Amino acid sequence: MAVRIRPVVAGLPAYRAGRPPQARPGLTPYKLSSNENPFPPLPGVMAAVEAAARSMNRYPDAGNSAIAEGVAARLGVDAEQVVFGTGSVAVLYQLLQTVCEPGDEVVHAWRSFEAYPIAVQLPGAVGVPVPLTADARHDLDAMAAAITDRTRAVLVCTPNNPTGPVVTHDELVRFCRRVPPEVMVVVDEAYVEFVRDDDAARGLDLLAEFANVVVLRTFSKAYGLAGFRVGFSVSEPGLAEAVRAVTLPFGVSSVAQAAVLASLEAEQELLARVDALVAARTELLTGLRGAGHPVPDTQANFVWLPAGSRTAEWAGAFEQAALTVRPFTPTGTSPAELAAAGLRISVGEPEANARVLEVAAGLR
Ligand SMILES: *Cc1c(COP(=O)(O)O)cnc(C)c1O
Repeated sequence: MAVRIRPVVAGLPAYRAGRPPQARPGLTPYKLSSNENPFPPLPGVMAAVEAAARSMNRYPDAGNSAIAEGVAARLGVDAEQVVFGTGSVAVLYQLLQTVCEPGDEVVHAWRSFEAYPIAVQLPGAVGVPVPLTADARHDLDAMAAAITDRTRAVLVCTPNNPTGPVVTHDELVRFCRRVPPEVMVVVDEAYVEFVRDDDAARGLDLLAEFANVVVLRTFSKAYGLAGFRVGFSVSEPGLAEAVRAVTLPFGVSSVAQAAVLASLEAEQELLARVDALVAARTELLTGLRGAGHPVPDTQANFVWLPAGSRTAEWAGAFEQAALTVRPFTPTGTSPAELAAAGLRISVGEPEANARVLEVAAGLR
């Protein structure tokens, strides 16, 4: 007899990580499939990590107190509102584990972040996916209408991964007024540092009015610490305390905590890099649209190239040019399924971005 495994675990969708770059003779390969920051670590961050590595025989600070104070001061919130985890995906798992019983419902947009269906199903909850609008945005009216008395949480991804547009602040305020106060609203702001649209949602500004709002942030993208796994939530203190109770003890390593502190110190340099990536994003967006591709607005560090039935073929064309992008192949042949298929291409090194435009110019 084999060990009995929970049916929800056996039925979980697999998380497909972005593929590593593929070598082609004569071409530098680039990985544009995971929305990583292409810049190498800053020297000051490296030095802090090397110093912290010298005490790897000791457990890290289980309370994450220094990084909680640092983030709280930076964001103008109290440290007790901040909960850290090994990436914001881990914090999302903790949030849903905190509020969902088996059979409860979680409303989220689709397509959206690939991790959501897994995070929803782990505690036995049922995902209620709500299709994006034709311009690849959240349909907040339809999401509000999808809330039932079984709904325990709503996930709002802004900017939306993998399509790029934001939810506006006014839209989100109106939406929150329609959500019952006992239903958690998670505002996933993984790409917030790349946002340049003044109308975009500001999750933290909602906390004063809505005690059910939780903002998710990460050090993986703008701060370039994807390999160290640090993310956090900001919410009212009572919910934060409950989420902390389900946290893996000592999850955030001492080197990761040191890297976060050094990154907060080096924030000006890091945000200058973000500015460079935003400028490259604008060039990519303009170039792709100029080549005739109907790319939706993006406020993140990636662009969405609609490709419909050609998704796999176009991913192959990028692969031939030693560029690894993230294909979302059609799940069927209906117009809606074809419209939801395409390639997510991360903003990368200047040479990578230029090559993306060269390849895309030849795609029809
Ligand atoms: C990358 C990403 C995250 C961050 O994941 P980490 O676990 O913090 O690395 C969260 N949400 C979305 C939508 C993302 O794209």
